[in-house]
Amino acid sequence: MKNAANRPIYDITPFTTLDFPNHLSCIVWLCGCNMRCAYCYNADIVLQNGNKTIDELLEFLQKRAGLLDGVVLSGGECTIFRDITIICKKIKELGFKVKVDTNGSKPEVLDSLIKQNLIDYVALDFKAPKRVFKEITNSLFYEKTITSLMLLVKSGLNFEVRTTIHSDLLNEKAINEIVDILYLNNYKGIYYLQNYLHLEKNLGNLTEQTKPFDKNLLNNKIPIEFRNF
Ligand code: SF4
Repeated sequence: MKNAANRPIYDITPFTTLDFPNHLSCIVWLCGCNMRCAYCYNADIVLQNGNKTIDELLEFLQKRAGLLDGVVLSGGECTIFRDITIICKKIKELGFKVKVDTNGSKPEVLDSLIKQNLIDYVALDFKAPKRVFKEITNSLFYEKTITSLMLLVKSGLNFEVRTTIHSDLLNEKAINEIVDILYLNNYKGIYYLQNYLHLEKNLGNLTEQTKPFDKNLLNNKIPIEFRNF
């Protein structure tokens, strides 16, 4: 029987056109996370051991050569995975581009991957402004998020910033605070606002959103696009 520690992958979504801009990609769901966001519906990925090994991922990718051109490393939080550098190297050696989905808590890992040319695109979750960051994420990684943002801006790498909105947790004022921070830090991309998706279970036992969210109250310092609103 294989050791659970050697099976860090919860699952592989074999094909997506949506997650990695301009790429046909698969999504690798790595287990474990260092946050506990109230709205997180990936409890199984965050809290459980995985089902697949890195070797199984590489076998899968070898069969997809020519069919896919990108790999999305998601989770959970993929940057806490001990062997993230090795996995990125192996994926790149097979000729795929790599996108990393991150909560921004590990800027030193991001920095290292960028400097080694091991990643091609990043989606950075900016969870909340400082005053409510702990309440929403059950973590103390706000400053790390800012460091990740700053190093991504400086790196010149293609990346996007996004925030999930449950309107009972984040109102228009909170989003405008994030917009101000992005603007002041010279973020030039689109800011994606993702509407909370209510599924049966989430980590914070949240119910459906009860408060309205008025897009017209958002300031227009940077371009904003809405997903699932
Ligand atoms: S939503 Fe939060 S808790 Fe869930 S995987 Fe992402 S960072 Fe972790």
